[in-house]
Amino acid sequence: MPRLQEMLDQGGSLHLGRSQMPSFTNTNNLSIVTGAPPVVHGLPGNHYLAANGEEVQLTSPEFLRAPSIHAELGKAGARVLCVTAKDKLRRLLAHGGVPTTSAEKAHECPIPEFGIDDVVELVGRKNPGPYEWDMSHYAIEIGIAVSRKIGPLDLMYLSTTDFVQHAEGPGGKMADRFFRRFDELLGELLDLGYLVGITADHGMNAKHHPDGSPRVHYLEDALHTAGVRGCRVILPITDPYVVHHGALGSFAWVHCPEEHRQRAREALAALPGVEEVFDREEAAVIYQHPADRIGDLSVAADAGTALGTSAAKHDLSVLAGPLRSHGGRHEQPVPVIVSKPLSPRYAELHRIGVFNSDLHDLLLNGTTV
Ligand code: ZN
Repeated sequence: MPRLQEMLDQGGSLHLGRSQMPSFTNTNNLSIVTGAPPVVHGLPGNHYLAANGEEVQLTSPEFLRAPSIHAELGKAGARVLCVTAKDKLRRLLAHGGVPTTSAEKAHECPIPEFGIDDVVELVGRKNPGPYEWDMSHYAIEIGIAVSRKIGPLDLMYLSTTDFVQHAEGPGGKMADRFFRRFDELLGELLDLGYLVGITADHGMNAKHHPDGSPRVHYLEDALHTAGVRGCRVILPITDPYVVHHGALGSFAWVHCPEEHRQRAREALAALPGVEEVFDREEAAVIYQHPADRIGDLSVAADAGTALGTSAAKHDLSVLAGPLRSHGGRHEQPVPVIVSKPLSPRYAELHRIGVFNSDLHDLLLNGTTV
């Protein structure tokens, strides 16, 4: 990645920071664009159990409890744009009138605010699907193409997807190809004159046995075996893109009647690989979660362990390869990179600890340029 190396050699800053818990897409994308933890923006997962007992995808702007930095800057007259690779984020990012499009649906998502009625034509090549190696790059290509057409934006958010990282570890053929192309596009953004910040919504770890089968605890089955009845497991990783992860990550919520809760907690905490089991009030404090949108128990597993509902409810034949996933503490470490040097005050602050959700603060307030 020669352009990234050159950027860092010339004074760009690289910190190891952390993501929000659970280390999932929607929670962290919203933390990055609002600069705030889930208790503020309202999304502790991709998915939750609503008060009426139905499982609901957290993809609609009505769930948001805080405005994005882009929406506020847009209201103040700045030219802002959000592009997401996966379309599931688009409506959330658009909240507050932010111009948005997605790589996945570029063919049907024009950007009328900038007079762009055909995004695919503007980019100059057909948009890839969510299970192709370069859908993330297409999102960046959209940002570059828009910038070339209308001039640099004041603030632009380009959100990638993790299909490649789910499918292959570092050093894999597709992973290398992903980062080579990412680096070229980073170079184009720098050549356009942008101050660039890079972070991730989460890390990724292999969660499988040596034979390639997933290392997973099915929590409803485990509770059943332990004689605890009436519990329902919700997996906040759940989204329509099951090829990535088969809905298996390292974080789960358990809803259960109060009289069974302590026994459920003990049974779950006894499972090898389960690291944390918190009740609702504890989780709200420790993870900074909105208490009304989480389970009675929050469960997190170690780097090599995934959590499921019951074996019968997961179709693992859809997985693209041995399970690699995220959601727990071990996928919290993420890079936080800014293309220019940080001012002394910020360099000091962020040596102590930085979140991915600090990225906009670093970009807008923290550099010497
Ligand atoms: Zn993922």
